[in-house]
Amino acid sequence: MIKNGAEYLEDMKRLRPSVYMMGRKVENYQDDPRFKSSFNLVAMNHDMCFIDDYKELAVAHEPLVDQEVRRFTHKLQRTREDAVLKAKLTRKVSRHHICGWCMSNSMCILWALTYDIDRKYGTEYHQRFKAFAEFLMKNDYDCFWAMMNPKGDRSLKLHEQKQGSPGVRIVKKDKKGIVVRGAKVSNSYATCSLYTFAVPCTALTEGEKDFAVAFAVPSDEKGVHFIVRPAPNRDSSDPGHDMENPIGSKIGIVEGTVIFDDVFVPWERVFMCGEWDLAQELPFFFSNIHRRSKCACLAGHTDLVCGAASLVADVNGTGRISHIREKITRLMIEAETAYGCALGAAMEGSMHPSGIYIPDTAIANAGATYIKKLTGDQIQLLHDIAGGIICTMPVEADYRNPVTKEWMDSYLFGNAKYTAEERLRALYLAQEIGSSKFTGYFIGWGVNAAGSPAACEIFVRNHYDLKTSVKVAKEWAKIGKEKK
Ligand SMILES: Cc1cc2nc3c(=O)[nH]c(=O)nc-3n(C[C@H](O)[C@H](O)[C@H](O)COP(=O)(O)OP(=O)(O)OC[C@H]3O[C@@H](n4cnc5c(N)ncnc54)[C@H](O)[C@@H]3O)c2cc1C
Repeated sequence: MIKNGAEYLEDMKRLRPSVYMMGRKVENYQDDPRFKSSFNLVAMNHDMCFIDDYKELAVAHEPLVDQEVRRFTHKLQRTREDAVLKAKLTRKVSRHHICGWCMSNSMCILWALTYDIDRKYGTEYHQRFKAFAEFLMKNDYDCFWAMMNPKGDRSLKLHEQKQGSPGVRIVKKDKKGIVVRGAKVSNSYATCSLYTFAVPCTALTEGEKDFAVAFAVPSDEKGVHFIVRPAPNRDSSDPGHDMENPIGSKIGIVEGTVIFDDVFVPWERVFMCGEWDLAQELPFFFSNIHRRSKCACLAGHTDLVCGAASLVADVNGTGRISHIREKITRLMIEAETAYGCALGAAMEGSMHPSGIYIPDTAIANAGATYIKKLTGDQIQLLHDIAGGIICTMPVEADYRNPVTKEWMDSYLFGNAKYTAEERLRALYLAQEIGSSKFTGYFIGWGVNAAGSPAACEIFVRNHYDLKTSVKVAKEWAKIGKEKK
């Protein structure tokens, strides 16, 4: 049964994780206003399944449990149609809510990976993972994705590091389970779900065998600690800031560093344990499934920038000026191109023997590289279109002071279609996207979330059909045997 946002929040109340934020241990973090915008975002992910405009895409039947589940969170991508619908939903939600938290991508990755490990080693990870997936789906529980290792010195392997051992590794095994130690970084929504998945983030060598570990634990398991940074928004409990921070006052994402301080994991929740040679499949499946989503997600972000740019142009009375229209058209083209790659990757994919449909590698990664490299440029366009005022305008508190409000209303108006307040509201939105604490996060999200542009490029280089292109070139040039 799909739970609504209120039911999700109710579930979260029973979690007692060890959480640190801004130099202090946080007790009863569920009531702490700094977490509110993140809980809101996850609650929205539940609530959209009950909203007419979303539910057709957001709700899907999942055969594993023979019931309806949230597409973003639990639907396994079994067909081309699933892959296309996921891309559609992702753009729609990212345009509006910034993030859809596409957890079902992780489920698909672990589904395929555990299947392959079992096939090679005769292990039973896939059955265990299936049972865990069923448990999450039936209870409609969220689970965040701890993949990114701290990595240490990037030029060295995990076991060669000189200052310690970054990444999560197995330190003990016995009949009952394993004990893991280490850290994961950059974990979005850490503390916003009852369970935590941890998986390797790169291909591994034999020397890194102990880092080849995938598992799930309750987020308040003994030894799990979160160091969380607040979402980049003003304090959302302050109603005075909803004009100046329309996005951040409602939604945001806390980001966590997760410490696994000798955490016991029972065998039924262990999905990989030492099979280092198959760790390389994780970044591969991730590159196809998650970067298809990233193309659609960043198309949605581009829509948001494009909409804000177009609105500020209109309130400023510049909407019909040719270079402004040209710049807005550029944003439209970027959004549609990235989305086209999401759909193209979904259409050109193939079936993995485990029953998971895998989008095309070259297209997904080409689209992700393309749009990732434009995130900073899009913010520059927004500044160019909106004008300097989005950096220099009086703050909202001055608009709430009757003395200064009167002056602002008298002098800061624009196109007569809008009141001065409406113009300010549009400018504050552009300011939040382009000239605030949120901006840096928004750009960083585009550039690095789901992998750096260089990481995407490697997949394009390795999977683009260069052989055929060169063959055609040789035919035209009449080189070798392939003469026309
Ligand atoms: C907003 C946001 C949300 C995120 N959410 C999550 C999440 O929920 N879960 C999760 O697990 N991760 C998450 N991430 C992490 C994200 O996947 C990583 O930031 C990304 O993969 C880049 O890795 P890195 O940060 O370690 O950068 P680095 O590895 O330090 O990369 C920095 C630069 O160095 C280059 N580089 C590094 N090593 C090499 C090498 N060996 N060879 C060549 N070039 C190299 C990279 O290509 C890049 O250009 C999130 C990141 C962001 C920004």
